[in-house]
Amino acid sequence: MTFQVLSAFSAKCGSFMIWHVRCVHKDTVFRKFGVKLYRDRQLPCEMECSYSFRLTHETFSRSVLTSLVRRATLKENEHVPKYEKVHNFKVHTFRGPHWCEYCANFMWGLIAQGVKCADCGLNVHKQCSKMVPNDCKPDLKHVKKVYSCDLTTLVKAHFTKRPMVVDMCIREIESRGLNSEGLYRVSGFSDLIEDVKMAFDRDGEKADISVNMYEDINIITGALKLYFRDLPIPLITYDAYPKFIESAKTTDPDEQLEILHEALKLLPPAHCETLRYLMAHLKRVTLHEKENLMSAENLGIVFGPTLMRAPELDAMAALNDIRYQRLVVEMLIKNEDILF
Ligand SMILES: [Zn+2]
Ligand SMILES: [Zn+2]
Repeated sequence: MTFQVLSAFSAKCGSFMIWHVRCVHKDTVFRKFGVKLYRDRQLPCEMECSYSFRLTHETFSRSVLTSLVRRATLKENEHVPKYEKVHNFKVHTFRGPHWCEYCANFMWGLIAQGVKCADCGLNVHKQCSKMVPNDCKPDLKHVKKVYSCDLTTLVKAHFTKRPMVVDMCIREIESRGLNSEGLYRVSGFSDLIEDVKMAFDRDGEKADISVNMYEDINIITGALKLYFRDLPIPLITYDAYPKFIESAKTTDPDEQLEILHEALKLLPPAHCETLRYLMAHLKRVTLHEKENLMSAENLGIVFGPTLMRAPELDAMAALNDIRYQRLVVEMLIKNEDILF
């Protein structure tokens, strides 16, 4: 089903749009599709529009159209996979009249009229928020930080496949650090690691982490480890955690890999892709073990607690899990070629 937007005009510039949409296939015109105009993703006010949208009959809904309109106004990188992401709704008090971006109806009341997504800025009724599809498109206007930001939110906001911190640090480490003794085990000067973190938060992919800025490679490895430690949801998510631990507790090697394979399926795609990339890198680190003295076992000790955190707060159980966490990472490195 191809839709063509025939015209769109705003009742008040920049606030509310009425769309006339025609289904090219059936030649039916849908009128008065209320879609709020996104002020920061400007479309001209009085417009003769020729956007065409392709979608199937089954998936067509008002919300789909809303998100398509949103998409049409965003620059998209073709090579970036489309990770699904839930909205991060928070109760919000709107100043001035506001319309729900899902049902297009007015949001009544003086305070807490609806909810707003903290990542993309979508405004909807509280009841409508339950119906909105998981199509959150985080906006850099809302997503200000790189560190401590949810991984999927970050990659979607920056249109990248993986967090840029991971790609950039790994590139730097592989270009000048693979033979460095105690790579990842030796800690860098913490003030400088903090400095790298601030550079990423401030400049994103433009951060300068070259040898001219940070001569000591342990600063870069430290910044990468810190990135993983600061994630609000660890790279190996709380949901997937028990399955990973289960694999480490299994004694039969074949069964171990099977459970590990199942565990990987529980990860959100952006987490899984980042883990795959990291493990391929760590495997390359172990190929230089003669020089850097870092085996898969040593890297497991460093990365176990960095990539995994026990979901429960039971301190004893968490302490007990550390050796399994190390084992999980060690297994992932050793078997990265068959697991991913
Ligand atoms: Zn959102
Ligand atoms: Zn609504």
